[in-house]
Amino acid sequence: METFHCVNHPDRAAVYQCRQCGKALCEECYDPATLGCRDGMHAVTPRVNNTFQTIQPPPPPKQDSGGMIAWKIIVSILAVIGGATVLFLAICGAMIFSY
Ligand SMILES: [Zn+2]
Ligand SMILES: [Zn+2]
Repeated sequence: METFHCVNHPDRAAVYQCRQCGKALCEECYDPATLGCRDGMHAVTPRVNNTFQTIQPPPPPKQDSGGMIAWKIIVSILAVIGGATVLFLAICGAMIFSY
């Protein structure tokens, strides 16, 4: 029968196996709270997700986008005025030439 040894302590017999990565762990390296490695590389993954869900996204991007929207409105108004001016001049020119 093959005996497993702890990945961190080759002289110790592995009593547990990590649920996350399947590493053989001795009693000292096994963390009952995470059912796996005690080194913390995937120990707090669910808690990290929960904290990310509770933290709301920062509001500054909304202010930036609002400024960008205002600038887009100004630019579009100027574009419309410019287009109307060109159209007006074209109509005037056509009327002048038609006389
Ligand atoms: Zn692991
Ligand atoms: Zn160990």
